Parts: sequence; C-alpha cells; structure tokens
Amino acid sequence: MFVAVQGDDENYIADFPLLCAQSGIAAHPVDLNEARNLEPALSDKLIAAYAVDDAAVDPFRLTLDNIAQAMDTGAGLFRFTRVAGFTIGQSKIAATQLINTQTDEEFQIQANVVVNAAGAWAAQVAVLADIPIHIIYSKGSLLVTQNRLAHRVVNRLRLATDADILVPGGTVSILGTTSVRTPTPDAIYPEIEEIDRIIEEGVMMIPALETTRYIRAYCGVRPLVGSENGDDDRKVSRGYALIDHTRDKVENFITITGGKLTTYRFMAEKTADLVCQQLGIGQPCQTRTEPLPASASAQWTDPGLAPRQWMKQNDPDDLLLCECEMVSQNSVDQIITGMGKLNIPLTLEAIGLRSRVGKGPCQGTFCSQRVAAYLYDRGMFNDDQGLANLRHFLSERWRGQHPLLWDVSLIQSELQEAMHCGFFGLELRHTEKPLDEQLPDK
Ligand SMILES: Cc1cc2nc3c(=O)[nH]c(=O)nc-3n(C[C@H](O)[C@H](O)[C@H](O)COP(=O)(O)OP(=O)(O)OC[C@H]3O[C@@H](n4cnc5c(N)ncnc54)[C@H](O)[C@@H]3O)c2cc1C
Repeated sequence: MFVAVQGDDENYIADFPLLCAQSGIAAHPVDLNEARNLEPALSDKLIAAYAVDDAAVDPFRLTLDNIAQAMDTGAGLFRFTRVAGFTIGQSKIAATQLINTQTDEEFQIQANVVVNAAGAWAAQVAVLADIPIHIIYSKGSLLVTQNRLAHRVVNRLRLATDADILVPGGTVSILGTTSVRTPTPDAIYPEIEEIDRIIEEGVMMIPALETTRYIRAYCGVRPLVGSENGDDDRKVSRGYALIDHTRDKVENFITITGGKLTTYRFMAEKTADLVCQQLGIGQPCQTRTEPLPASASAQWTDPGLAPRQWMKQNDPDDLLLCECEMVSQNSVDQIITGMGKLNIPLTLEAIGLRSRVGKGPCQGTFCSQRVAAYLYDRGMFNDDQGLANLRHFLSERWRGQHPLLWDVSLIQSELQEAMHCGFFGLELRHTEKPLDEQLPDK
C-alpha cells in the first residue's frame, strides 16, 4: 500500500496513478477508512492510499535456496573464501588466488571464465585484474521492530527519500532506509542521526513507530554504477551493469553488479548467457521458466514453522531452546544434521543463519547459551569451544543493538551484559580493542 499524509506533495499524489499506468503497474485507490481497517497502525492524518502488487523476501531462505540449487546442479562452494588475486597471461585470467579467511589457507583455481559478482566490492575485485570500475557507494540503514506492525508493505507516497518503507519480515517489521554516500563499502555502521531521522519520518506514516521497541539496526551499501548525478544518489540509476572485460583486454572475465534484488534472476540470466556465449554453449537459460525450488536447508528460516512443528509434535521431551521464536531442540537437531551432510562447521552463527535463533526480542540473551549448552550435552562442543562461539555470536548480535540503546532495549542490554559477562566472563579480551575504539566517532 502507498500512503500519503497531511503535508505530502499533492501534485505527486495526483500524478501517481497515471505514472503507475504508464509503467504498467496496477494501482487501485483505497478509501481512507478502508485503508485504516486493513492497516490499523496507519496514521489518522492519511490523505491518500493506493494498493499495488508488492512482495517481501526472506533473505536467509533466498540465499540458502540459491546455494542448495546451485550445489544440486553441480556447483562447488568455498565458504569464508576471499578472492585475493589473479594470474593473468595472454589476455586471460589463468588462475584465481583464494584465501580461506578462517584458516588463512591459500589456494588457487583455474576457470575458463571468471565472473565477478562481488556486489559493492566488484571494483575491489576488478582492480585485482588491473581493471578500474567506477562505483558510487550509497549506504542505507534499516531498523527492525520487536513486533510486526503492518500486514503488508507500506510505502510513503512521495518522491523516494528517507524512511519511506515499512516491510513485513515474518514476526517483525523493517523500517528504512537512508541513502548516505560513503567512500568504501567497508566499515559501515548505522549512525545514530540516521536512526533518529528514520524514526522521525516513519512516525508520520505509522505513529506507533515512536514508542515501539526496536531490536536491531543494520545497514548495507548499494553499488551504484553509472554517471555522476550531483549529490543525490537516489537519482543514480538502480540498473545493473554487466561488463565483458574483453573491452579491458581480459577476455575471460565478466563483472555483474548494481541492480536490485528484485531483478537478480534476470541479472543472473544475462550473465549466464554471456558466459555461455564465451564457452560456445547454445543452450537457453532456464532461470525465467524454472522457479527456484524450496530446499530442506532453508526450511527453518520461516518464523512460523518451528512453532507449528513443535506444537504438532506435542513431544514433552522436545524442549524449546529459543522461547522468543519457539525454536525447539528437534529443529536444531534437523539443522545440525543438514549442516553435517554439507560439511558445514558447527557454530552458533551457522545455526542462527538457518533458524530464528537469536533473531527474537531477546537477541540471543537466553537462546545463545541454551543452544550452546545443548551442543555441550550432545558432545558437539568441548572445552571452551562454546564460550568462543558465544562470544562471536553475541558480538554479531551486539553490532545491531548498540545504536538503539534507550528505554527497554537499554534494560535488555544491561541484563544481557550481566548474564554473559557475569556467568561466562565474556568481556572483550585484553588483546581486543574496546568497541568504542573499533567504531568511528559517530
Ligand atoms: C539499504 C539497502 C536497501 C535495499 N533495498 C532493496 C529493495 O527494497 N529492493 C531490491 O530489490 N533491492 C534492494 N537493495 C539492493 C539489493 O540488496 C542488492 O541489489 C543485492 O543484494 C545485491 O546482490 P549481489 O549478490 O549483487 O551483491 P551482494 O549481496 O553484496 O554480494 C556480494 C558478495 O561478494 C562477496 N565478496 C566481496 N569481496 C569478495 C572477494 N574479494 N572475494 C570473494 N567474495 C567477495 C561479499 O562478501 C558478498 O557476499 C537494497 C540494498 C541496500 C544496501
């Protein structure tokens, strides 16, 4: 639903249906009372509402399903592995140097064609082959609420600017975003002034955003490829860039970057077509006609599934390890079995990526230690392995919590500190920099 509130540009609102029609998008006007019936959290200062087709993705599931399908069709996957360099000879990449960032193991692979799909890092990878790509980096921050505030995607009906979208994400809502130019895609953080701005703007659409509890803030960088457009990155095209580096005298090297997640399969199709052309393969790409199959490895990312299974089984021995998101021992067992089949190292983080563990209102305060204790009980963690895992898992959770510390979140973080530092001594090690030295001044 697209909604406008008092004070929004009435010319833009008037033009909206025509502009949608010109773009082939069906936009249906919604009576204001009906809009508030459908979405009771909407402001009573509403002046226009339109319904359009829209959707949201589960990014964990999408990623795991893509990995599973690629591996089912013969792909190999190197986890935690960074491209560190290329050996170039006779205008081709002869070998790609790789480093496992967890073990520091170095190795190399030879490929007939190399595709650089490193997103916002595409320029950093291309430069390893001595090829410059001009990318503008636009950081966007988002906030996650403790509860879900709207049934559907709610957009502000105005020219794209900060905090104009509230997206449902299972049991939560996600409010965003910003657009802040940044010099590199690395070392980025949601900044407090961005968070204040997101909430101030969001409240105009959904007043409950003023008092709701936020459990996380996070950010990402959009790689914008194209011409300079002054200072407003929202005016730079969100189109994708598919570059055949034959133009840079490296014949078997392709970069795909930019675009939108919505268009990722289209981008993949165009890239695969170019790879096939270089390899002399005439078979048509199936991405357009074959839907992405649901994989077993992604089944526990759905917030509703673990509780449904747990209640259906009604097994008094199947204890809940995560009460916020109702993740039981049994579902953790299934995740571990699935990971074992794929030789994925057992860590709390890996379990968290495949389930709702750590994603609920307690942000891992209770479930992290319960899951760790369960893994000790099953003999899967030994010695201080669980503590090291807890430290890593909780630092990742903390990254999303520290910009949001007020009110109930502050109380929750005090509890978390008392539990994890009090019980387990999980303060930073002396060799580690204190967090405020790791973060930029803001
Ligand atoms: C704030 C924000 C909001 C957005 N909102 C939307 C939206 O509403 N709708 C929409 O459709 N799209 C949206 N997008 C865009 C969408 O998220 C991106 O288009 C999409 O995720 C890009 O996917 P990708 O695979 O190209 O890049 P990425 O997901 O960035 O993947 C690149 C990968 O390359 C890896 N990598 C980097 N360097 C190396 C190296 N040297 N060696 C090996 N691997 C490396 C990285 O670790 C990363 O995993 C948004 C983006 C942001 C930042």
